Amino acid sequence: MTYKLIPLPYAFGALEPYIDALTMEIHHDRHYQGYINKLNAALEKHPELTKKSLAELLLSLDSLPIDVRTAIRNNGGGTYNHAFFWKIMTPNGGGQPGGKLGDAIKKDFGSFDAFQDKFNTAAKTVFGSGWAWLCLDKSGKLQVISTPNQNCPISQDLIPVLGLDVWEHAYYLKYQNKRPDYITAWWHVINWEQAEENFVNV
Ligand code: MN
Repeated sequence: MTYKLIPLPYAFGALEPYIDALTMEIHHDRHYQGYINKLNAALEKHPELTKKSLAELLLSLDSLPIDVRTAIRNNGGGTYNHAFFWKIMTPNGGGQPGGKLGDAIKKDFGSFDAFQDKFNTAAKTVFGSGWAWLCLDKSGKLQVISTPNQNCPISQDLIPVLGLDVWEHAYYLKYQNKRPDYITAWWHVINWEQAEENFVNV
């Protein structure tokens, strides 16, 4: 087995009341584990690919063997995106970012509120399953994007800074069809220190 589940950096219930413990347990132990298992199964068919990092695989999807390309896009993306997602949340999170990221958000979006509106719209309007992201592009500018399924921003040559999983498995037990309520709650658990680290350590 090449890829292993990384443990949550906090207890399942630590993000209550914003994200409930049972959702976190099922999301981490079953959904996330499922992506890892399927990624490892794909890599077993092409062991030479294990010499590359997951980010390298996701950046070069078009050059991967055709029989595992979709599996790596979906399950490599799922593995990468979820490992990223657990770290971008924390109990006692939320508020607004300071630091270099806070300055860059104000510069590139005009204000934190304008950025938040744009991000919320991206998250709400993902049709079906996907993600909303704050990313850094090659010119050093921040962008809000969404991706379908488990597609990862790295495959578009973007560096993820912040990401929100809007698959129903991420919120349905507590919020059912009310994705906007889940999005509103999520702002209370953002780990801005981790986002700053993602932003400056490119
Ligand atoms: Mn998920």
